[in-house]
Amino acid sequence: MENQYEVLHQECLSCQKCPLAQTRNHVVFGAGVSNAEVVFIGEGPGENEDLQGQPFVGRGGALLDKYLQAVDLSREKNIYITNMVKCRPPQNRDPHPDEVANCIGYLSRQLEIIRPKIIVCLGRIAANALIEKGFKVTKQHGQWFEKNGVFMMGTFHPAALLRNPHNKPDAFEDMLALQKKIREICDHTYDGTEL
Ligand code: SF4
Repeated sequence: MENQYEVLHQECLSCQKCPLAQTRNHVVFGAGVSNAEVVFIGEGPGENEDLQGQPFVGRGGALLDKYLQAVDLSREKNIYITNMVKCRPPQNRDPHPDEVANCIGYLSRQLEIIRPKIIVCLGRIAANALIEKGFKVTKQHGQWFEKNGVFMMGTFHPAALLRNPHNKPDAFEDMLALQKKIREICDHTYDGTEL
């Protein structure tokens, strides 16, 4: 599994399949544990992510890490985190549909290798692509959808929470719902140590 993952990672690092390759500093492939039962998916790298080659760093990443920590999750220990597109859209615009279409193969193969039981979509772009078209985060966040045996939830993107902090209590409720689902269906995320 490690080998398959590394082969895919290396392939992605040299990808030129869409115009975002021209303006990126780094490909941001993903981070976390390769046997994660829970995978978080955002829309695309921002400025800090592009500079560092890591997903969800900077203020948004720090906020996300706080939410994760509150329910005993972290990218170092028990989750995986990535994005719909692996290169930064200029000025942090939404990725174009053709860019997502070009890049989605990497995400599909990441998910085939990792085989998560739960996918959490961070924000509208990922939820629309992966859960259902027209997904409204403000209305449908925290709801569970089951697709091909994988439980999926959409919640707020951390950058959106920084812009609209009044949604933070709802985002925290979503993390509690996630914690409950992990306890129900996951085997090793909490490594048997949860209360
Ligand atoms: S966004 Fe995806 S498809 Fe486009 S160049 Fe980067 S890795 Fe390749």
